Amino acid sequence: MIMNVDQARDWIAAIAAKVEADAETLTRLDSAIGDGDHGANLKRGFAAVTLALDGFEAETVGDVLTKTGATLISKVGGASGPLYGSAFRAMGKALTSADVTREQLGDALEAGLAAIRKLGGAQPGDKTMVDAWLPAAAAFKSSGALAAAAAAAKGAEDTTGLQARKGRASYLGERSVGHQDPGATSTALIFQALAGT
Ligand code: ADP
Ligand code: MG
Repeated sequence: MIMNVDQARDWIAAIAAKVEADAETLTRLDSAIGDGDHGANLKRGFAAVTLALDGFEAETVGDVLTKTGATLISKVGGASGPLYGSAFRAMGKALTSADVTREQLGDALEAGLAAIRKLGGAQPGDKTMVDAWLPAAAAFKSSGALAAAAAAAKGAEDTTGLQARKGRASYLGERSVGHQDPGATSTALIFQALAGT
């Protein structure tokens, strides 16, 4: 067992705390190559998730993650809401028991990535959250949560040199190079929170 229902709640609470603490950084990154709302979007989204989970009776890890995803989809207007929302919903769908193994969680993280890619159509290297989530899910499977957090952070940093091909930042063309992607940066927070749980 690597995660039970309480630990799933702890993971989401840790994401909410990190998003709140780093909201200004996320907004600053999004101001450089987007519209400057990424921090506010996620802060509002995870505040709503915290409220939605409070008093919510979850029997499985998936219940917690599905509720998280559905709330993000309904409360966050930007591109990141539906993308993260479908990732959490896909993870929730994959985790149907009260506690899950590392292998099951690894498969769920891959399912989350697949949901982001299906909805957004981004390829690796397009300078999106995919560039952090993909190496993180792979590292989780091979080496666990700490390695996943490190891989996500490196993936996010490495988006700096990339030109955006999806989302608002793609409108900037070559001028998007030299700035770290906000969504990849928030994905690194999600995996940091997982490692801390
Ligand atoms: P918006 O772009 O609508 O203002 P946010 O600012 O909340 O939404 O989120 C921007 C982030 O969403 C980007 O930094 C990028 O990582 C991610 N993103 C945008 N479009 C896509 C896409 N098609 N596929 C994957 N991620 C995307
Ligand atoms: Mg934005």
